[in-house]
Amino acid sequence: MFLPTTPAELKKLNWDKLDVILVTGDAYIDSPFIGVSVISRVLTNAGFRVGIIAQPDWQSDTDICRLGEPELFWGISGGCMDSMVANYTATKKKRHEDDLTAGGRNNRRPDRACVVYANLIRQYFKETKPLILGGVEASLRRIAHYDFWSDSIRRSILFDARADVLVYGMAEKAILELARKLRDGQDIKDIGGICYISPTPPHDYIELPAYEKVVTDKKSFSRMFNTFYQNNDPLTGQGLFQQHGPRYLVQNQPQPQLTNEELDNIYALDFVRGVHPSYLAQGKVKAMETIKFSITTHRGCYGECNFCSIGLHEGRTVISRSEKSIIDEVQKLAVLPDFKGYILDVGGSTANMYGIECLKKHTNGACKDQRCLYPRVCSSLKPDHSRQINLLKNLRKINGVKKVFVASGIRYDLLEADKKHCTSYMQELVKHHISGQLKVAPEHAAPGVLKLMGKPQARSLLNFRQIFEKTNHSSGQKQFLTYYFIAAHPGCTEENMRELKSFASRELKTNPRQVQIFTPLPSTYSALMYFTETDPFSGKKIFVEKKMDRKQRQKDIVMEKIN
Ligand code: SF4
Repeated sequence: MFLPTTPAELKKLNWDKLDVILVTGDAYIDSPFIGVSVISRVLTNAGFRVGIIAQPDWQSDTDICRLGEPELFWGISGGCMDSMVANYTATKKKRHEDDLTAGGRNNRRPDRACVVYANLIRQYFKETKPLILGGVEASLRRIAHYDFWSDSIRRSILFDARADVLVYGMAEKAILELARKLRDGQDIKDIGGICYISPTPPHDYIELPAYEKVVTDKKSFSRMFNTFYQNNDPLTGQGLFQQHGPRYLVQNQPQPQLTNEELDNIYALDFVRGVHPSYLAQGKVKAMETIKFSITTHRGCYGECNFCSIGLHEGRTVISRSEKSIIDEVQKLAVLPDFKGYILDVGGSTANMYGIECLKKHTNGACKDQRCLYPRVCSSLKPDHSRQINLLKNLRKINGVKKVFVASGIRYDLLEADKKHCTSYMQELVKHHISGQLKVAPEHAAPGVLKLMGKPQARSLLNFRQIFEKTNHSSGQKQFLTYYFIAAHPGCTEENMRELKSFASRELKTNPRQVQIFTPLPSTYSALMYFTETDPFSGKKIFVEKKMDRKQRQKDIVMEKIN
């Protein structure tokens, strides 16, 4: 059953009031793939009464006042994506389509959605309950950050939104603790995984360079980001604070990560796995077509590609669900009336990280001075794909399942490092889990650009390609690899793009079709490079393409539109 979105739906439940109202920039989809939905189910499961206001009209009181005022707090999320990423292309053109809006037209999500929704609530509810920001937009903009769309350093989103608290990262634990403490009238300032604004700096927290300093001094901005990044680990991260004018943004240390059992429990919650029926007349929510019959096997990523924000948001420690939990979920999907026998994806941010994690990380946290995969796979990681192989074999046996696809990306350096299971894993994929093509994301081929991206060198891709082709051949299949590339990443020149084009045609025998222009996402190392025009790891100056037409030109070089 969906959670209430109207007074009539509240009445049906015999609820006179709501404890929590969640406001989101996406259509209301009840699925474990949607953050707001997960939070709503976690809170409901703990006994809180939760209502949803999805994509409210931000120019009137019609939607935002619909459910009245909550007893405990308002939860505000821009949706599954940062609203600026959702609304604009990498060359800052307006996007016309939105896969998370019914009917697909991009007209229901304001720019800077968290700020707009928070101000909307304040406009109509003067002395209201606390406003709590969460989701990826809030999480990645929680301290001073480079904002590509205004080409400026913006202050913490908490100040712009005039909200009370920001819950960062994957917020199940923090939000539950917050709801309980607010209900019990307790102080919430000590909750892990939250940020708030304070008139005074806290004791024993690390001070980040002030907002006013990082706006004018790129070295201070770089120092700020490094300290921020290093203190994101649930075991070793310390509290931080940053002065903004006369006040302080305080970031408490991260919440402990979920255990495997806790993650299993979340996936066992009572999701409807559908789009709220009120959208029927407006058309389909396209994202639902992919997520409805897909399975998340794990959370987190230790790939640390510098342009990606997943490691910062979900954590660098991979937590995997148990095989039983995943099988239970597939069995639930297999009996749905519209299930046609196909599981469209079994994976996570990187499919083959399932069940593979460093034992040291579980006790000491992620290393601060080295990365798990870059520049080479760390000897402590000891990749072992046997658990994934078993999982895939068992999923294929479930009644009603015709085919299980692995559509999430494969980290080929990780696979290559598993000498024992590399071939057998590839055989499983090629024989049973891809539909003609396997997607891989080398992102580039020029060594200097790959280094700045934190991606494995081209040699690793070629080794993987060789294994793929051999397996294809021996199993009598005619499948192929599809490659994803990025143009105009910091450090990338037109010459580098010509290098990539020639590599693709010479070594991969392909003309790339999947090329996207780099977008500097808030709170990523690549955004830091873009803003400072400096390699943050060596301190050396780098070329950064900032002109939109030249970025497009970089893409066109690889797409063969120009030489
Ligand atoms: S020891 Fe290696 S694998 Fe483990 S956290 Fe450190 S870098 Fe990652």
